[in-house]
Amino acid sequence: MNPITAAPDWHTLSAAEALARLDVDPAAGLTAAQCRERFARHGPNALPSAPPTPLWRAFAHQFASPLVAILFVAAALSAALGHAGDALVILGVVVANALIGWLQEGRAERSMAALQRLSLLQARVRRGGVEQTLPAAELLPGDLLLLSAGDAVGADARLVEQTRLQAAEAALTGESVPTGKALAPLPAATGLGERRNMVFAGTHITDGRALAVVVATGVHTEVGRIARLTADAAEPATPLQQRVQGFGRALVMAAFVLFALVLLLGLWRDLPLGEVLTVAIGQMVSTVPEGLPVAMTIALAVGMQRMARQGVIIRRLSAVETLGSTTVICSDKTGTLTLNQMTVTRLWLPGGAGAAAQVVEVSGSGHATAGELSEGGRPLAAPGPALMALLRAAVLCNDARLAPPGEGAGAGVDAEGGWRVIGDPTEGALLVLACKAGVDVNAWRASWPREAELPFDADARLMATRHRGPDGRQRVLIKGAPEAVLRLCGGEPAALRQAARAEAEALSAQALRVLAFAEVTAASRTDGTYDEPAGALALDPADGFDALAGHARLLGLAGQTDPPRDGAREAVEACRAAGIRPLMLTGDHRLTGLAVARRLGMAREGDRAVDGDELERMGETELRDALPGIAVFARVQPAQKLRIVEALQANGEVVAMTGDGVNDAPALARADIGVAMGRSGTEVAKSAARIVITDDNFATIVRAVEQGRVVYANLKKLILYLFATAVDEIAILVLALLAGYPLPLLAVQILWINIVTEGTLTVNLVMEPADGDEMRRRPVPRDEPLLDKALLRRVVLMAGTSAAVGFGWFAWRLGTGIDLATVRTETFTLVAMCQWFNALNCQSATRSSLGPALWRNPWLFSGLLLSVLLQLAVLYLPPLAALLHTEPLPVSVLLQLLALASAVLWVEELRKAMR
Ligand code: ADP
Ligand code: MG
Repeated sequence: MNPITAAPDWHTLSAAEALARLDVDPAAGLTAAQCRERFARHGPNALPSAPPTPLWRAFAHQFASPLVAILFVAAALSAALGHAGDALVILGVVVANALIGWLQEGRAERSMAALQRLSLLQARVRRGGVEQTLPAAELLPGDLLLLSAGDAVGADARLVEQTRLQAAEAALTGESVPTGKALAPLPAATGLGERRNMVFAGTHITDGRALAVVVATGVHTEVGRIARLTADAAEPATPLQQRVQGFGRALVMAAFVLFALVLLLGLWRDLPLGEVLTVAIGQMVSTVPEGLPVAMTIALAVGMQRMARQGVIIRRLSAVETLGSTTVICSDKTGTLTLNQMTVTRLWLPGGAGAAAQVVEVSGSGHATAGELSEGGRPLAAPGPALMALLRAAVLCNDARLAPPGEGAGAGVDAEGGWRVIGDPTEGALLVLACKAGVDVNAWRASWPREAELPFDADARLMATRHRGPDGRQRVLIKGAPEAVLRLCGGEPAALRQAARAEAEALSAQALRVLAFAEVTAASRTDGTYDEPAGALALDPADGFDALAGHARLLGLAGQTDPPRDGAREAVEACRAAGIRPLMLTGDHRLTGLAVARRLGMAREGDRAVDGDELERMGETELRDALPGIAVFARVQPAQKLRIVEALQANGEVVAMTGDGVNDAPALARADIGVAMGRSGTEVAKSAARIVITDDNFATIVRAVEQGRVVYANLKKLILYLFATAVDEIAILVLALLAGYPLPLLAVQILWINIVTEGTLTVNLVMEPADGDEMRRRPVPRDEPLLDKALLRRVVLMAGTSAAVGFGWFAWRLGTGIDLATVRTETFTLVAMCQWFNALNCQSATRSSLGPALWRNPWLFSGLLLSVLLQLAVLYLPPLAALLHTEPLPVSVLLQLLALASAVLWVEELRKAMR
């Protein structure tokens, strides 16, 4: 049976029928043998990408440019004038140009393709009885998909089990409201948007959980069918690419103007028309920066590769350059700036009914269960009833679990007997606390089964579960942020609530994350049954937490530490030195956030922390004005993140923002650089983000910014080189013509310098490693001109020197009566040598190019070596010499020329030294 070609209407089948047809056991999933067999039959779960362009066509494409047309005209002209050799050289140049362009484009394309593979989605499946995560591309028909909020659906699947599952299917159906899901079979005529018992590739889960069996992969999915219509458009040019293209167009215009200028000057000087025309064409061709667009792509690709090596996955090419311009990094606290290794260090029990409040200290670190509870310095003998009540809420209103040794990888590792704490570290810390207090967590859970729950709600910052105890009595256990819990404890005396609030603030100010615990107990009646307090025990999702208000009794507070990540402080410092402002966004209390920010150096004297409530009260302009003094946004709702991003952008900032949850997606998409967390992030957040950091670490974002700056700096090195060399050649030519000399260079020589000398050097400039001072500069303004003042000054210096040297030598040698062919050969060689030194100059704007710096970029060094060898070949290999009309030069002259050309290097070295 072939489940795909048979293609039944899966939504008409019951889950059991679907499983039977796909021959899969819902408890175990596909076996290894089934996987092998199905993979052989169905192949990977991927949409066919456009077939790669055949090599010959990519090569042929190189000839389809106006540049080549111009060169053909020049070749025809030379042939018509009887210079068959020149025509041959020009045709050779055309081929060489095409060859270089073809190789470089191939190189750019390959690196882009390699990177695209990095950003593929993940899926969770059950196979061979084990749950595992694998690339969505490996999904097979019959695979059991485990779905929960935030997951992207990797293939079309029939639901087998589900709880409150909702899926956002806008990508497929255009429906903007998430669709609720159900299990029952549906009539065959049900439309795609109504197939509630199915989930589809390309959509994502916004709420709930499900188990589903994959029924279609790749092109056989619904989205696969559409994909044929809307074949993935190539990524549009990035803003920087557009600016570089604009720069290239300006140079093309300049080339035409120069063509006319050289032609007119030559005619004015009565030089032979054919010769002037070919030289003018050659000059025009060399002014056109044909390698620039490809070099730009390579620069971005190299940046992407370097970032990938540091754990940064680029999902949008434009992110590379935008990173370099980032001025604000908004970062989550927990897990990004801190380790997210929570440890409860302090408990507070309210006492009440005359008894004084009680403070319990807890020792130990991380998730290791070594540690003990003490009060006032003395170890706590046996936990009293108040502490036991708090521990009960901490253990039962908790989704983390203690897994026996050998069970799948999870968060945090327990010391004792290899048991692992799996789940949210905040909750794991509570289990560890219980262990330290001598509680048998799993035994408690068995004797207090969970009957109902309101899962943790990040907006409400609350979680509640209902249990029936061994005594038959029902309890609702609540945990959450202190303000949120205290709001439910309206029935408690005002003094107690006040004391709890003060204690929560005191703990927060010590950088602790504080949780409060409360319970609602059914009142007992005389007949031994229990009464529900006015629906509070129902935990009806429709009422939410509001039904608990007024019924909850406060059990106490727990404060947890979360140590800062190694290197977080240094990364914050690096940000500041680089002119980037780090901003903390946290769900924690304002004082906790501020205390952590102080420790990390993110908040300085006078900096403020603003919480969600205060933010809500602020007007738009008020917020924008206050932003410079704010270091921390606390208790922020995901929706408020969007507002913060927009206010920062309105202030002219370029914003990088981290996020992991489903609700973070809008802010991630709005930010200039959305940064999703590779480990803790949901697939939804990853698909909304422009970059994904694989280690969830703030320091990694800072390193990505540095690489973004390197890419931009390298691009400017290339632009400087291209511009300086073009100016150099045109200046020599125009000076000679103005002064009434013959043409200092022949057309073929100009073309040689343009294609061979420069071709071997240019692209390699974008491979330069970091200068090391990137993070001591200001962020690059996004609209900074590519040729800024500093760059123009260097053009004048470099091109001015080489033009003076070149023209000076030409005029002087002619004056001493040496024959023109030899002087041209010398000038030709001198100009080539100047380009070598120019390339060295362009390696860095500030650093000397002498010494080991020469070796830093092996690409450039090899290019240079190749260029030198080729130049020697045209001087000393007779057939090549004949084609380029050169004369063999004595070594002494060669050395003189080299010394002279090095002046270009020395002026730049002097400028660098004087800085
Ligand atoms: P962050 O942005 O630092 O990750 P969270 O949104 O995870 O913050 O948490 C915000 C607040 O919600 C915490 O300060 C805590 O009071 C509360 N909280 C966090 N996790 C839980 C949980 N599992 N159960 C109940 N309350 C929680
Ligand atoms: Mg969190």
